[in-house]
Amino acid sequence: MKKQKQHVVIVGGGFAGVKTAIELCDSGLFDITLVTNRPNFEIYGSLYHTIVGGSTKVSTIPLSEIFAERKINIVQCPAKELDRKAKQIITVDDQKISFDILILALGMVTNYFNIEGLPEYSYGMKSLAEANELKKHIHDKITKKHLSTYHYVVVGGGPSGIELAGMLPSYIKRVARYHGVEKPQIHVDLVEAAPRLLPRLPRSISSSVAFNLRKQGVKIYLNTAVLGQSADELLIHDKPIRSHTVVWTAGMSNNPFFKENNFQTTQNGKVRVDQYLQAEPGIYVLGDNADTPYSGMAQTALYDGKTIARNLTRIAEGKEAWPYRAKKPVYVLPAGPRWAAVVWGRVRFYGYAGYALRRAADFMAYKDYSSWPMTFSRFLAEIDKEESCPHCADDLAK
Ligand SMILES: Cc1cc2nc3c(=O)[nH]c(=O)nc-3n(C[C@H](O)[C@H](O)[C@H](O)COP(=O)(O)OP(=O)(O)OC[C@H]3O[C@@H](n4cnc5c(N)ncnc54)[C@H](O)[C@@H]3O)c2cc1C
Repeated sequence: MKKQKQHVVIVGGGFAGVKTAIELCDSGLFDITLVTNRPNFEIYGSLYHTIVGGSTKVSTIPLSEIFAERKINIVQCPAKELDRKAKQIITVDDQKISFDILILALGMVTNYFNIEGLPEYSYGMKSLAEANELKKHIHDKITKKHLSTYHYVVVGGGPSGIELAGMLPSYIKRVARYHGVEKPQIHVDLVEAAPRLLPRLPRSISSSVAFNLRKQGVKIYLNTAVLGQSADELLIHDKPIRSHTVVWTAGMSNNPFFKENNFQTTQNGKVRVDQYLQAEPGIYVLGDNADTPYSGMAQTALYDGKTIARNLTRIAEGKEAWPYRAKKPVYVLPAGPRWAAVVWGRVRFYGYAGYALRRAADFMAYKDYSSWPMTFSRFLAEIDKEESCPHCADDLAK
């Protein structure tokens, strides 16, 4: 008699969830349902590029494209509850989805640490919707307001903050030039609470990134905590910084789903997992949600997805699962046009070589999720068309 396939339910259509789904679909051994709150897979590490005039193609791949040739059931509705007894995931619109195996990869949410004014007045860059809102705001401020001074503040000296701050000065100058704004005064500030940028990476990386950002015209505030925000000022311990555009990249916390559903968490709020990435028997937690050594990176989420898919396949074939071995990621940190810093084990390098490595990594990532023609189309969409306003050019291309 033919053995019935196990039903794997994956919640979260991000790096870990989509990778697991692709690998499990390709094994042909499971029935798979992907529960997600978005129609697209979003590449956060490329959202800064979309904000500074790049195409949305660069940072977003429709799930319908990724799974066009694969057998999968996609439920587009947020998951709200886990019924452990019935082995069901319940969505916000009350669909009850039964599972044999559950994989949770819901990613992080923005945390404003109860700082007054930030939720109302700051911009984010944690989704395509937020990236598009910020892009439109930056563009409208230049084309509709015709000010003489433009003041932008990015809060957070982590990878996403430096990526955006490094690209803003040249982008804003370009949009202003294209729209005939005469001699605009452009200020871009980067505010970080720690004593140096990228506090979790080696000091030499922090200094070279800071050097390159200053070269782009970015003013860096270190040891500076944000105390509040109003419509036109960011409050810090010193004199407030006047700004019409504050981008908050400084706070993330674990998805509330885990607390609401009584998962055991560690001190950093992430879910405690065993050596097979299980939070409980048959319930796996991956990517940013899991308390693993390199959680918080796309490479780790992809690796987790691959590891779980391989183990579930091994179990289905009657073999033993392999324990999880954390893999140190390669850090590639863009901080200005055609410039990136790289930390690859003990090796560090900067500049155009870093940028070239980043481009190669982007290409490989697109290839993981797209056909060859779409991979090339996405890869080439990252190349700027200098002769036009990048925002207008992108709008025209739609
Ligand atoms: C701006 C930014 C830039 C970054 N740059 C880099 C970089 O350059 N390199 C790098 O390695 N890492 C980078 N990261 C980190 C990296 O993107 C994350 O580590 C990675 O996305 C984690 O993958 P994940 O699958 O755990 O979560 P995610 O990719 O966040 O996926 C979670 C998915 O779950 C969905 N979801 C959430 N709640 C629900 C719900 N209730 N029901 C259903 N679905 C839900 C979300 O919409 C999302 O699609 C960056 C992050 C940000 C925010």
